[in-house]
Amino acid sequence: MVEAIATQVGVATLQAEAYANLGDLNEQLAALDRTRSNLIAITGHELRTPLSTIQVCLESLASDPDMPPELRQVMLSTALDDAERMRTLVQDFLTLSRLESGRVEWNTEALPLHECLSLAISSVRTRTNPEAAALPTLILEVPEDLPLVRADGEWLVEVLSKLIDNACKFTPSGGKVTILAQTRGDRELEVKVADTGRGISRDRLETVFDRFYQEEGALRRSTGGTGLGLAICRQIVTGWGGQIWAKSGGKDCGSQFHFTIPIAPDSASEVTPNPSPR
Ligand code: ADP
Repeated sequence: MVEAIATQVGVATLQAEAYANLGDLNEQLAALDRTRSNLIAITGHELRTPLSTIQVCLESLASDPDMPPELRQVMLSTALDDAERMRTLVQDFLTLSRLESGRVEWNTEALPLHECLSLAISSVRTRTNPEAAALPTLILEVPEDLPLVRADGEWLVEVLSKLIDNACKFTPSGGKVTILAQTRGDRELEVKVADTGRGISRDRLETVFDRFYQEEGALRRSTGGTGLGLAICRQIVTGWGGQIWAKSGGKDCGSQFHFTIPIAPDSASEVTPNPSPR
């Protein structure tokens, strides 16, 4: 008799748990659905803006064959700039969705940070518009004898380039961008990209990693970009089990972006640990 009651209580408890789990699952599905709808709305808006500009430019060109050559040139380069913006936006969006859905195969190996840094710096230099203001001075404070890191080189270069690119974009020429790296404990390296640019207000230090966050808002943006770069960096860094965070002294006091990356197991023995600066 006691056994029968105990079994019934057990079954009832299991049923209650199952209902509770089902409720949680439904809530999670509803939340996912809301995120998806928001994302579609934001992406639609972000694509519509450059598309409208391209349309206006092409219509003006088509309707006025006698347009003065200088104005014609302005229309053409505005349309081309916005087409490029759309291409980057779609590319960044696809990258982010691949990372978020876990469809990325990590080609992890032991790598020297120096090499990835050189590749990242060259890619930032190549992408910089030669007509734009000169890049700020780049300073490297990365010891030669750092242990190898364990990462997918392509994605590591992507993170470094995005952070260096941002630091340069938001720092006026004459400013400085410093890249530092040091060991943190005996398992990871900490990389820091610090600039002397416009800074980030304290209440935005987390928000900057949200998708499509741009301080000026997409419409008033003068620096280009898609607002997806830091969201991509966060996905990549958390993908290898690291952390990424921002610090700033506030408006016009510069920003520092930090991330951690695991040290390759066989190089761990070479490490002389430094105290964590965080
Ligand atoms: P974007 O394509 O706009 O650079 P990101 O995701 O890389 O997109 O950055 C999001 C926003 O975070 C930027 O638009 C800018 O407002 C802010 N931000 C990023 N890096 C810096 C920095 N080094 N200094 C100041 N603000 C920054």
